[in-house]
Amino acid sequence: MELEVIVGDITRQKVDAIVNAANQTLLGGGGVDGAIHRAAGPRLLEACAKLGGCHTGDAKATPGFDLPCRWVIHTVGPVWYGGGGGEDLALASCYRRSIEVADRLGATTVAFPAISTGAYGFPPDQAAAIAVSTLRSLTAKVRRVRLIAFDQRTFRLLERQGVEPGSSEDFDSLTPP
Ligand code: ADP
Repeated sequence: MELEVIVGDITRQKVDAIVNAANQTLLGGGGVDGAIHRAAGPRLLEACAKLGGCHTGDAKATPGFDLPCRWVIHTVGPVWYGGGGGEDLALASCYRRSIEVADRLGATTVAFPAISTGAYGFPPDQAAAIAVSTLRSLTAKVRRVRLIAFDQRTFRLLERQGVEPGSSEDFDSLTPP
């Protein structure tokens, strides 16, 4: 699996699947979740409402509707309570489960935001290390994972984990159906 990092907006990625940092209700929220729902249109909320929520560390998929990607994989990151409550394992599980769901869908290109590092308060450096080590440990049919940094600081943290910078936001093609 190839890993790359860019600074960008996940809602603009032309990949097979983007991952949403959702909450347990899957009924929308702020941050990247809000941006994804706005860009996907109201059908996304209707589809999410049928999923019956999602546990922390798990992932569930919907179509991408008005987004340029085919699917959205909704995962629920842990809220940071100081690190003693299994936050590391739960965050690793988000990356692992999202890739499992992507594999099952037949997605080969997947974009991730920095799960849990916004409203959920996970320390960004630790989150970057977990994201990269978890993804590198997986064997999957997914060929290419693009990590989307929303700011330069996150970009640098991911680069420091040895992830190669990607060259542009939109050179990916979709996997043929
Ligand atoms: P969480 O509740 O899991 O912490 P947030 O949405 O608050 O989720 O933040 C997760 C990360 O997503 C943060 O690093 C935030 O800067 C980033 N982010 C917010 N909007 C976007 C976007 N449109 N594209 C990519 N990343 C985004």
